[in-house]
Amino acid sequence: MTGLGLLPLAEAQQRLLALARPGAVIDQPLAACLGHYLARPLVAARRQPAADLSAMDGYAIRWSDRPGPWTVVGESAAGRPFGTALRQGEAARISTGAIMPQGADTILVQEDAERAGDTLRLAGDGPSRQGAHIRRAGHDFEPETLLAPAGAPIDARLIALAAMAGHGRLPVHRRLRVAILSTGDELVPPGAPLPSPAHIPASNGAMLAALLAHWPIDATLPPIVPDRLEAVAEALAAQSDADLIVTTGGASVGDHDLIQPALAQLGGSVDFWRIAMRPGKPVMVARLGKAILVGLPGNPVSAFVTAQMLVLPLLRAMLGANEALPRTSELPACAPFPAIGGRQDFVRSRIIDGAIHPLGNQDSGALHALWQADALAIRPAHAPEAAIGSPISCMMLSRQA
Ligand code: AMP
Ligand code: MG
Repeated sequence: MTGLGLLPLAEAQQRLLALARPGAVIDQPLAACLGHYLARPLVAARRQPAADLSAMDGYAIRWSDRPGPWTVVGESAAGRPFGTALRQGEAARISTGAIMPQGADTILVQEDAERAGDTLRLAGDGPSRQGAHIRRAGHDFEPETLLAPAGAPIDARLIALAAMAGHGRLPVHRRLRVAILSTGDELVPPGAPLPSPAHIPASNGAMLAALLAHWPIDATLPPIVPDRLEAVAEALAAQSDADLIVTTGGASVGDHDLIQPALAQLGGSVDFWRIAMRPGKPVMVARLGKAILVGLPGNPVSAFVTAQMLVLPLLRAMLGANEALPRTSELPACAPFPAIGGRQDFVRSRIIDGAIHPLGNQDSGALHALWQADALAIRPAHAPEAAIGSPISCMMLSRQA
């Protein structure tokens, strides 16, 4: 705990990740694996390439026969190898990816060859060394090579690698069910008419659903929950078979902050709450039946930052990722960053010419400034002022997801 009675974020993250239990392992077809994490290491089931191949279109020759001429005795095409061995003075037409005929040890590329009927002559410099333009058997991987560790994210590149390594299916953890509950009497669904200036569009639900969209997660977005204890309790109870319930709003201790009272009524247990971070202090982590509940603040920027720092790491861990916490890198400050109080600060910032620059509007509801940000500059609690040029730890904000 800090002097303010708040939990440091790093400790909150460790406690939260300790709750994560990845679901059952299933073997899924490659095409359905995108966004999952490997549940077991990926091991090569074959040698790649299985034989020496030509890397170019041209002619397979014997180095010792240079400078030719050669007699073209056949062809090795991709998928249709040349059946017999090359003898002295012989060459085979060969295309990229085709198997080197026996006896051949070098490729004469198309551009350096001149052919008249079956007679092949050197035109140009020819190959520079014995073995030129050959892709050696096993140069990419050998059978049993450990290609990727358990917990690696399955992306397009890993899918290609798995396919080449002989796998049509991969072991992954089952999909997760996540319920996203927005609470607040003032909230109106996006695009719906606002009855009064006291009402606002509910942006958090759409934002959270978007953050999860690239993962194997079935997200449900029940209707907005009004600020009445029975309504909140009923909405939570209806989602207790989810793996994770994420709520926004109502997580503080105001008269209308009903997540904790509703949870108590349902027999849920609060694990911890209130984190020493800004924005985002009133975060709560609890358990309700088999579900983990993470209560995020209602302010949209607070909800985004706490989702990045807590909800997404938790989901990565629940999906079996080997790296759950966000990556950070250091960039030089291109303006002074003020001294920090007792709460770790997440400063919405732009990156200009490789340096980090705090945006003017740091209000925890300012979504336009959040959208303009390229990174969150992460300032530790009690940090002194950071002068221009000093290194600042940053979490990049992707424009893709
Ligand atoms: P609360 O945490 O309920 O006290 O809400 C804090 C602030 O966030 C208030 O100004 C709410 O109107 C706002 N807020 C709560 N939920 C949402 C939401 N889903 N979308 C946008 N703003 C919200
Ligand atoms: Mg509220």
